[in-house]
Amino acid sequence: MSRILIIGAGGVSNVVVKKCAQHPEVFGSIFLASRTKSKCDAIAAEVKDLYSVEVKTAQVDADDVAQLVALINEVKPALVLNVALPYQDLTIMDACLECGVNYLDTANYEPKDKAHFEYSWQWAYQDKFREKGLMAVLGCGFDPGVTNIFCAYAQKHLYDSIRQIDILDCNAGDHGHAFATNFNPEINIREVTQIVRHWEKGEWVETPAILDPNAVHFSFDYPEAGPRESYLLYHEEMESLVKNIHGLEKIRFWMTFSQNYITHLKVLENVGMTRIDSVDFKGQKIVPIEFLKALLPDPGTLGHNYQGKAVIGCVFNGEIDGEHKRKYIYNVCDHAECYREVQAQAVSYTTGVPAMIGAMMMLKGIWKGEGVFNVEQLDPDEFMEELNKCGLPWQIVDFNGELPE
Ligand code: NDP
Repeated sequence: MSRILIIGAGGVSNVVVKKCAQHPEVFGSIFLASRTKSKCDAIAAEVKDLYSVEVKTAQVDADDVAQLVALINEVKPALVLNVALPYQDLTIMDACLECGVNYLDTANYEPKDKAHFEYSWQWAYQDKFREKGLMAVLGCGFDPGVTNIFCAYAQKHLYDSIRQIDILDCNAGDHGHAFATNFNPEINIREVTQIVRHWEKGEWVETPAILDPNAVHFSFDYPEAGPRESYLLYHEEMESLVKNIHGLEKIRFWMTFSQNYITHLKVLENVGMTRIDSVDFKGQKIVPIEFLKALLPDPGTLGHNYQGKAVIGCVFNGEIDGEHKRKYIYNVCDHAECYREVQAQAVSYTTGVPAMIGAMMMLKGIWKGEGVFNVEQLDPDEFMEELNKCGLPWQIVDFNGELPE
């Protein structure tokens, strides 16, 4: 039994904490710390009610390494699980190094003043973690996370070589709001308004952002959700997969967006509400996207009316026993079922469950190593088994559908 310190108390954290509480044989004691302690206390009270498990809570500013170090030294966890925001990744990694504790997160670092994310900042910690004999696991949500594990599994068990991967992320749910994002609005909007890139024949190819009339999209027929318009998008797991899936010639990421979502976001962008620089307002400096976040529904509260399914998976194309074969590995997750279990919608659920499983893999010593790892570098087998047991069952089928060239 091990002690875990979870940082961040938003939508994803709510799921992580409850899922850890469901496994007391692994997570012997659970500490939860965040910027706003009352949010930690609210999650802790629900956990006590649901599972009779005590979660200890604390306030911490995770931008401040000294505060983190003091907290980690007091709690003495075996692992710090970071489900705050990507802005805090490096400070939390610094504190883990100083305190000699392993680290896991679900999203790669991005600086607050530039809407740009890449692994280089966190990969630069490789030697520091290795020298201290510590392990940092990056991107252990669903995408990145489970999608990388699906790739590792396909590489290990299904294919002699994988030529092409198409990752397809569909949220076919309806939350009843005119416009809302399914995880932190600031991070979500920064991600989906980026220039799009995919990887082909050894280089990154740029295409227009999803709001551009020339954005690349097509209709994909998702299992249980049906045909949905899917847009080419840049997503962080591609950066590590091109390094770790041998022989890969092409990788793309597709995400569904409704016309309603695109229209709202286009208007918000046109009027300047998605700007990340500060503007003067009645003698005060405000950052429009932060103000927008204050107006939009909190993703953690979307669950109670959410209907429909999220379907995320990978289509592989490659060689099996000398033949060209296409396989599809995917999970279908029902918003209402997630809400019944942990009072969360499927996007928080599909992120929080893999984060808990990754922590379980590390605490059980199934994933071990020294340095910084993306999850496809670790053994997928027991993680895949736990997905089936912990609420995210997956399927492997032959793929006969259509994908754009
Ligand atoms: P939320 O905004 O709901 O929660 C973030 C939490 O972090 C809040 O409790 C917030 O505190 C806390 N926080 C922010 N800044 C600080 C700070 N300086 N110090 C301490 N705590 C802080 O986000 P989500 O739960 O939706 O997302 C959590 C993470 O999961 C994000 O990094 C997101 O990118 C990632 N994610 C990953 C996915 C994947 O599949 N890999 C998919 C979806 C999300 P406060 O309550 O005070 O605001």
